[in-house]
Amino acid sequence: MPSRRFWLATVNRLVMKTVTIPGWGYIEIKNVVLDLNGTITESGEPIPGILDYLQTLSSEGFEVYILSGDTRGILREKFEHISAVHTVTAETAGAKKAFVESIGPEVTVCIGNGNIDIGMFKTSGLSICTIQAEGASANALLHADIVVTHVRQAIDIILDSKKLIATLRS
Ligand SMILES: [Mg+2]
Repeated sequence: MPSRRFWLATVNRLVMKTVTIPGWGYIEIKNVVLDLNGTITESGEPIPGILDYLQTLSSEGFEVYILSGDTRGILREKFEHISAVHTVTAETAGAKKAFVESIGPEVTVCIGNGNIDIGMFKTSGLSICTIQAEGASANALLHADIVVTHVRQAIDIILDSKKLIATLRS
């Protein structure tokens, strides 16, 4: 019988999806980390349908985190009560990167649109830059593995390995 410590360590390392991508490598995905402003909100309001998408990710077994400095109080007001997501206050690029490093960067996909997201893009196993209505910084775009025009597409790519492979294979 394995010790409790061993069992907990094993559970903690469970990954929800493993994908091998020819010419790119191998990724295990356990966590999905999303930026708030400009990524899942537009002008301070949640993008229509985003709650259903986050719920789908959670019900598929992914741990879903929303990171923000939350200067407008949107994180608390709109997302804190949603059981499918974890809300995390992170006010700087360094804080976002440090949080991703604390949950296992190699098993984490990060989605964002700004310079503040570049640190977590660099450290995570997979990074997706979304342009959308508020735009994306050119630097964030350059440091992402994948660029999309809507967060819905980013989530579809995570849910459908064939899309992920088709985009990244060489
Ligand atoms: Mg943003």
